[in-house]
Amino acid sequence: MTCIECKKELSYLDHKTAMESYGVELCSKHKKRMDKLIRQNKTPIEAIKLYYGLKQAGVHPMLEWWDGKKSVDIAFSRVKLNIEIDTEYQMLTHDQAMNDLEEIMHSFQNGFTTLRIPNMVIKHYLKETVNNILGIKEGLRANIKVI
Ligand SMILES: [Zn+2]
Repeated sequence: MTCIECKKELSYLDHKTAMESYGVELCSKHKKRMDKLIRQNKTPIEAIKLYYGLKQAGVHPMLEWWDGKKSVDIAFSRVKLNIEIDTEYQMLTHDQAMNDLEEIMHSFQNGFTTLRIPNMVIKHYLKETVNNILGIKEGLRANIKVI
């Protein structure tokens, strides 16, 4: 049992609290850091799970990345891929949906691809979600090379 961030040995209690909160092994220092980030950004728990799922797959995403206007749940800046997690309790009104579309348009004009992933998908198919994102990331990288 070691912290996924700093590889520090975990006590039974640290392991238990982190696993119960996020489903990953974190030392108390890194768990506190995560708690704070979530409080500040209202980050959905699935974003944390996806973030660590991607890290464990060997890539380096950024969590709550500030794009200059808003905080993006997960981002791969090198291939300009933004990932937003949609949560079920956010019942989307038509105004919000329009807003989202406009935001995606602006990001797209700046060369960014935005993926919106429903949180249930991460809850039930974390591994598959990670694999699909890796595929999209690879595709984007190949396209960048062509240009
Ligand atoms: Zn740690």
